[in-house]
Amino acid sequence: MQDFQFHAPATIEEALDILAVKGDGCKVIAGGTDVIPALRNEDILPDSVLNILEIEPLHGIKEEGDFLRVGPATTFTEIARSQVAQTWLPLLVEAASSVGGPTIRNRGTIGGNICNGSPAADVLPALVALDAELELQSKDAGTRILPVAEAIQAPYKTRLKPNELLTAILFKKLPPGTRYAYEKLASRNAMARAYMNISIVLNLDEAGTLSDVRIVPGAMEAVSRRIGPAETILTGKRPDDSLVGEAADAFVDYLEGVWIPDYKLPVARSVFMRVLRKALKVV
Ligand SMILES: Cc1cc2nc3c(=O)[nH]c(=O)nc-3n(C[C@H](O)[C@H](O)[C@H](O)COP(=O)(O)OP(=O)(O)OC[C@H]3O[C@@H](n4cnc5c(N)ncnc54)[C@H](O)[C@@H]3O)c2cc1C
Repeated sequence: MQDFQFHAPATIEEALDILAVKGDGCKVIAGGTDVIPALRNEDILPDSVLNILEIEPLHGIKEEGDFLRVGPATTFTEIARSQVAQTWLPLLVEAASSVGGPTIRNRGTIGGNICNGSPAADVLPALVALDAELELQSKDAGTRILPVAEAIQAPYKTRLKPNELLTAILFKKLPPGTRYAYEKLASRNAMARAYMNISIVLNLDEAGTLSDVRIVPGAMEAVSRRIGPAETILTGKRPDDSLVGEAADAFVDYLEGVWIPDYKLPVARSVFMRVLRKALKVV
């Protein structure tokens, strides 16, 4: 049984005061689906635990002009049911709906998925594809904005400072007609973590030309990032079977250079082609 102080502030200011004093020795907890097993197994031994679920402004999804603001304590179930998310962030809705089973989706939060920094996270890669930005606050430095693509330094290690709290995930609204596709490959167990997932965002203009292509795999690299060579092959072209094949070759060539085991490569190729075709709506 661990011995730590438990804090449950009602405001962001109080939370930042606690983090300013406790810093490294303080563990933030949201839904606890990662933190509680880590406490139970004594993988972490904090002096204090800071529960953020009582802080009302950290919950919910709001439209703010051309932007969307998602509170880090918003659960996957809340995201999946949100009308605003269904309208503007269908990729996020799909990724959130693919996490664990209903009990995990009812507890687990978007902020926890980012800050845990797992290479097998399902929502984090979708956020990279959506170009999301993180609003981080601390008592000494105020507010700073960090692109989610730069937030993960290494598996399970973020670039957040010990006294910083993630206070929002920000999205610029993408133009109507933007296409999205997502797929997660996992074992049949409803609670299974991903063997791989792929998020794709793209635009296809009236002439059938591709632009703003973003391809982000998950559970295939130490840190999720966009696969530039495959995006470049597609950009400015009119898609056909041969172009899809060329992009799939570039996707797999890129992955060969990272830690994905060889046996996963043919599967990665075929999942990539399926997700790309889904985004192009040619399935
Ligand atoms: C059975 C099971 C199945 C799972 N299946 C999946 C799955 O299919 N896909 C998947 O992606 N994940 C899965 N997970 C992992 C987990 O549910 C997710 O990572 C979830 O998003 C974590 O959210 P949480 O609110 O529970 O985070 P917590 O456990 O509360 O926190 C996670 C980390 O984030 C930090 N943190 C949380 N909020 C903030 C904040 N606002 N500011 C700063 N730091 C913060 C915490 O300090 C901690 O380091 C599974 C977990 C379990 C136990």
